[in-house]
Amino acid sequence: MNAKDIAQIKALLSTPKHIVIIPHKNPDGDAIGSTSALFLFLKKKGHLPVVIAPNDYPHFLKWMAAEEAILKYDQHKDIADQKVKEASIIFTLDFNDLGRIGELQAVVQDSEATFIMIDHHQQPEDYADYMYSDTSIGSTCEMVYNFFSWLGEVDAIDADIANCLYTGIMTDTGSFRFPSTTSTTHRVVADLIDKGANNASVHQMIYDTNSLSKLQLLGCALRNLVTLDEFSTAYITLSQKELDQHNFKKGDTEGFVNYGLSLKGINFAVIFIENRQENIIKISLRSKGDFSVNQFARKYFEGGGHDNAAGGKSDRNMQRTIEYFVNLLPQYKEALNNS
Ligand code: 5GP
Ligand code: MN
Repeated sequence: MNAKDIAQIKALLSTPKHIVIIPHKNPDGDAIGSTSALFLFLKKKGHLPVVIAPNDYPHFLKWMAAEEAILKYDQHKDIADQKVKEASIIFTLDFNDLGRIGELQAVVQDSEATFIMIDHHQQPEDYADYMYSDTSIGSTCEMVYNFFSWLGEVDAIDADIANCLYTGIMTDTGSFRFPSTTSTTHRVVADLIDKGANNASVHQMIYDTNSLSKLQLLGCALRNLVTLDEFSTAYITLSQKELDQHNFKKGDTEGFVNYGLSLKGINFAVIFIENRQENIIKISLRSKGDFSVNQFARKYFEGGGHDNAAGGKSDRNMQRTIEYFVNLLPQYKEALNNS
């Protein structure tokens, strides 16, 4: 985004507008944090914004100040379609391809609104009128902070907005430990705390609100963990039956894949989760070092993401998905062991 783009966006935002803000399907902390922060900011500036999430998200993200204003598309399709039709500006946050918003894609792609993308995923599609895409930044929330700063609006960040932005920066950097965490990230976070973000409380609301059944599901996942030392790889499976036995709720498996990666000598970790309703195996992939799970997920599992964290899916059943996956590894042996 250059100075001319910023000037044009400022001009667009100089009078009240109907604005739709959209995160990706199965939104995570960065998606809900960034869209909520932008919503609160635009509302404060006199606009008529709405966040439309393609579907529901975990309970531990449902405390932000914008929560009441977030429409879930799969529950309120008619109102949401109307909002998209009314909108003169559509912000798309934390995703790079309209295929990532599920059924919402159909109405969004017919819209004549001005599209503004803010995102940090690799290989973005070219659908937006204004595109702020930077794959080197650890979170969309950090980019939204930059966006506010380019608009000359950092002072509009209040405690509610700061808590939202803090959430996405914290979750997408793995609590400030992934290599995408820079000194700038820490400076942004320092400013957010100065503006009222309650870092300890945000951490607790996200990470310390587990149910006992979720922890027991984690126990089940860890018992299912398989290591393939020859390929520095670990994978976990969770069947629909196991999810049902542990009273699975959306978000319960968030972070499980990282346990595989925490093993010494493991550079590639994957979790395969059966979703019988959608008739797919949902896959999360993580790596250490140079092995790009974005490329791997794109090539073999209709997915994508970042170099070290990506997602995808398989239409095969669990057993066949695992066979397919394990058979892919020998060709990457050297890359996996040297990652
Ligand atoms: P997670 O494994 O936590 O769901 O996602 C890891 C990263 O990959 C996130 O940045 C997420 O947006 C992205 N991602 C997850 N699933 C998919 C997918 O099916 N397709 C694409 N393109 N990206 C995905
Ligand atoms: Mn993100």
